[in-house]
Parts: sequence; C-alpha cells; structure tokens
Amino acid sequence: MNTIVVKFGGSSLASAAQFRKVGDILRADPARRFLVVSAPGKRYDGDTKVTDMLYRCYDLAAAGEDFSSALEAVRARYGEIAEGLGIRFDLESALAPIAEHLRKGPQRDYMASRGEYLNARLMAAWLGWTFLDSAEYIRFRADGVLDPETTYALLGEVMAKTEKAVIPGFYGADASGRVVTFSRGGSDVTGAIAARASKADLYENWTDVSGMLFTDPRIVPNPSYIPFINYRELRELSYMGASVLHEDAVFPARRAGIPINIRNTNRPEDPGTLIAAEAPAGTVIGPVTGIAGRKGFDTVLVEKSMMNSEIGFAARLLDTFAAHGVPFEHCPTGIDTMSVVVSADAFRPHREEILAALEALKPDNLKVEEGLAMIAVVGCGMVENKGIAARILGAVTAAGVNIRMIDQGSSELNIIIGVREEDYETAIRGLYKEFHQ
Ligand code: ADP
Ligand code: ASP
Ligand code: MG
Repeated sequence: MNTIVVKFGGSSLASAAQFRKVGDILRADPARRFLVVSAPGKRYDGDTKVTDMLYRCYDLAAAGEDFSSALEAVRARYGEIAEGLGIRFDLESALAPIAEHLRKGPQRDYMASRGEYLNARLMAAWLGWTFLDSAEYIRFRADGVLDPETTYALLGEVMAKTEKAVIPGFYGADASGRVVTFSRGGSDVTGAIAARASKADLYENWTDVSGMLFTDPRIVPNPSYIPFINYRELRELSYMGASVLHEDAVFPARRAGIPINIRNTNRPEDPGTLIAAEAPAGTVIGPVTGIAGRKGFDTVLVEKSMMNSEIGFAARLLDTFAAHGVPFEHCPTGIDTMSVVVSADAFRPHREEILAALEALKPDNLKVEEGLAMIAVVGCGMVENKGIAARILGAVTAAGVNIRMIDQGSSELNIIIGVREEDYETAIRGLYKEFHQ
C-alpha cells in the first residue's frame, strides 16, 4: 500500500472545526497513515498562536513572575477544541507536568514543544491512532543539530511497525532526553523527516493557501499559484523569504526523492503545488518560476586597485567576517572591487571591529551601505531563455527603482538583485507584472 505522510500547520488545527476538516481529508485517502501536527495557530487575525502563548509562560516563569493566567489561556485553547469535538480528554493530567516544570525552573525549548505535544495527543485520542512522541524518535546532537542517522534508525523502525500514527512536529530530544526544537515553523521539517523515515511515496503539507504563490501575497494581491516547482527552485525561494515551507524541509524529501505536495486544508479540492526533482510530462515551464525577497541587508564595499592580482586578498577579506561569526550572503566582485552582502542583524553588532580589521588590508576605499533588500528571481527555465536578465533590469527600472547590486548565481537558477529597502515592494510588483503566468 502507498504511504502518505501528511503535515497540518497551525491554522489548519486552530479549532474543532479545523480538526474536522483534517479528519475528512484523512478519511478521503487511507494511504494518509502518518499525521504530523503543529500546535494550534491563529483562529482569526490578531489571535495568538499557542506556541507564542507557551513562550510567554516560559518568559514569565523564568522571570519569577506569576504564569498561572498565561497557562490558563493555553488550557482554554485545548479545552475549546476537545469540547468542540465532543471527546473526553484528560487535559488536567496532561497539563499538570507542564505547570510543575514551570515552577521548577523552566527550559525554553521544552515549553515551546508542549504546543505540538498536546495537540498530537488530543488528535490521536480523537482519531483513535497511535501517538508517537518525537522526543523518543527525533534525535538532536549535543550542539543542537539534528542527528540524522539515529533519527532515521529510531523513527524508521517504529513507523515500520505502526499502522496509523500522530507525530508532534517541531521538536525532538538529545541523547540525555532534553527536548530541543527546530527553528520557528519547524513542523514542516518534522514532516519531511517522517516522510523519509517511513519511505513514504508522498509528503503532503497542508496549510492555509492553495500552494506556493508566485510571490508574497502581502505585496501583490492574489498572486498566481505555482503548479509545479523543483526542489532546487523551492530551496532558493524559501531561503529568500517565501515562507510557506520551512527552508530545511526540502533536504530530507529531496535526498529520498519524495515529492512534496502543498495543499489547502480549507480548499482540499485544489491541486496545490507539486514539488519534485522533475516536472511531470506536459508541464509548461516558463522562464521564471517565482520571486521572493527579504529586507535587512547591509553591503560592505571594498575597493583596491590591482586587488585581483593580490593573492589571498579575497580570502583575508572574507575571513574577517568569519572571525566575527558573520556569514556572508552574496559576494559580487569586480576587477578592483568586492562587495560583501551581510545580514544587518548579524553584521551591525560587530561593525566597528570588522571595519577596523578591513582597514588593515589597506583598501583605497571602504564603504558600508545600509538598508538593502535582496530579491531573487528564480527559475530553471532561465538558462534556455535568452534576455531574462535584461527583462529583470528593465522591469525594475521601469518601476522607477534604482538597482544597487546584481548577482547571478553560477547555477543559472536565479538572478539576485539588491535594491534599497524602501523600493522593495515597488520592485517586486514590477517584476510580478513582467513575469507572472
Ligand atoms: P502553516 O501554519 O500552515 O505552516 P505558514 O503560515 O507557515 O502556514 O505558511 C503559510 C503562509 O505563508 C501563507 O498564509 C502566506 O501568507 C505565506 N506566504 C509567504 N510567501 C508565500 C508564497 N510565496 N507562497 C505561499 N504562501 C506564502
Ligand atoms: N508551532 C511552531 C511555530 O509556531 C512550529 C510550527 O508551527 O511549525 O513556529
Ligand atoms: Mg509553517
């Protein structure tokens, strides 16, 4: 029988009505045997996600303040779901160890993980499926990074002998049993890991939009959907800010060759976006698959004549950033110039020391430009289509935006442009108009 791992995000699990939609989706295909859940998300604009409520409990307890009403608000969210589903679920005994943990000196990741833990237990009770606690099967190393070998061995073994199970997303534990979470939105990663561990035929990621959009819906109203995108394009777009799928969710699925299908819980009839290595036969591939971007970059421009003939110059320059733990995002070069694009959050705390160290390289000119936004225009079809770079530059210029930087990755999968932050939205709209299908 086929196996499908399904992951439902926070808004898909925010209320009893949403749980019922999940139940319908599971019943529609018996191959949907493994369910990875997020914590309950927002029920309406302005609502608070349970994960944020739990971080609040932690902050209060860590500061020695009264957390009882903050924890009561969490209890109320699950109480409302259990009552709406009409099931008996002993919420009090599930919450008691959490209150006890808060009193005894809380651990931040443990607290955050309880949103998924409680939701998975509730869901398993409602469906009558097995509950598999991720703390037992998803293993992190002592440095907080996933230990893939142990994880796939442990999770693969238990999934192979389980018919139908609910698995909480977002967390695992280290060898000592201490809970560790992924970064925010990490239930997508759990889903991809579960798909790989169970050698699933498909990983369905159910959310509140009908797939990956051509660009950010907060900038362009109702952008078109991308019916198919390959893993590499998705990686570029999610890294650059298309936040529908966690950027680290691509790797496990890609390595195992498992296709991902992004679907809408509120419109299950929509086909969504299919992500795989190769497009199904008959897919029309345009020159540009999608556009994403982010604000919050600074550029350090270093000019020095004959820089290119000074052996080791670029290495020393980049080492200066590395020595302060500042990764560089892009590094376009000219004959006598090098620009290093860095995240402003990472760079600014070390700005003065880095600039002082760069002065020691005796540049002719050293300049920092703050407040840059980077936009990635991504598409594997770009290689075969001549003149895409010219169309990108033309579209942005026609929108009245000055381009500060251009970087074409050697993969020819994307062209990245830098614009001033205040021009970011205008540039995205100009590009959308030029390329959307
Ligand atoms: P979930 O809680 O289901 O994991 P997320 O909020 O993490 O859902 O991701 C879905 C949201 O991502 C959408 O509601 C949408 O606002 C946002 N988003 C940003 N960029 C894109 C994009 N390119 N395509 C689709 N959604 C996007
Ligand atoms: N609940 C976690 C978060 O809000 C993880 C997730 O939803 O994927 O970030
Ligand atoms: Mg998400």
